[in-house]
Amino acid sequence: NVITYWVPLLDGDNVTGMVAVFHDITELKRLEKIRKDFVANVSHELRTPVTVIKGYSETLLGGVLTEDPERSQQFLSIILNHSERLAALISDLLSLSEMESGNFSLKLGPVDLGATIRHAAELLELKSVEKGVALKLGEIPAGTGILADQRRIEQVFFNLLDNGIKYTPAGGEVSINVASSDNNVTVTISDTGPGIPLPSLPRIFERFYRVDAARSREQGGTGLGLAIVKHIVQLHGGSISVDSPPGQGAIFRVILKKP
Ligand code: ADP
Repeated sequence: NVITYWVPLLDGDNVTGMVAVFHDITELKRLEKIRKDFVANVSHELRTPVTVIKGYSETLLGGVLTEDPERSQQFLSIILNHSERLAALISDLLSLSEMESGNFSLKLGPVDLGATIRHAAELLELKSVEKGVALKLGEIPAGTGILADQRRIEQVFFNLLDNGIKYTPAGGEVSINVASSDNNVTVTISDTGPGIPLPSLPRIFERFYRVDAARSREQGGTGLGLAIVKHIVQLHGGSISVDSPPGQGAIFRVILKKP
């Protein structure tokens, strides 16, 4: 993956020699491939719900709407479900593209991390009750104040808790624990679900990477949640890691710096 340029050496108008310039384009090719894969993925993800919405609308207009009210209800809820998927996908794509654009800046201010996590958990309470997964928020220590973009940092914990609830079967548990040291606040989100297979762990934060695409879609997933989470954490100068010891579910750990 090396391009060679030959540059003439000039003395006035006379060519006195040639210099070879080697340019390694391995990285450029890799980035180009990532970009192309991303566009292909977006197109595919958008096409599926649009095809479903179009198909069922046409069938309804073709006569089902007047002839069969029960099937109409069923078709309309499929249309609604896929519209919601489209809306979620567009909103996640916008978040990602915003954060990846060079002129993006965080709206930093003092944030009480404990209260933010509690709020994210409250937003998901109904979902966890409906799913039959217990949300367990451990004791929040004193001193969890950080400098952060409140809305974005809440999205981090919302997405991680939402995933825990999505992938943990009924009867299971999602736990959140917060620890505070002199320099950092560490938040651990663990669940009693199936966990993440070892070979998938290094890829889990990639855009559109899913262990089981059908399962993710069924749960209303876009495949972008963890990519967004990682972006936000990194923009805050923090770090995120994932671990999944066999039989122990998934464990996500977010470390954020104190001011
Ligand atoms: P999705 O919308 O598919 O959930 P994410 O980016 O949030 O997208 O997650 C990527 C993939 O990581 C998921 O499709 C799932 O395979 C896996 N994953 C994320 N969180 C968990 C978890 N708590 N337990 C098991 N698998 C998970």
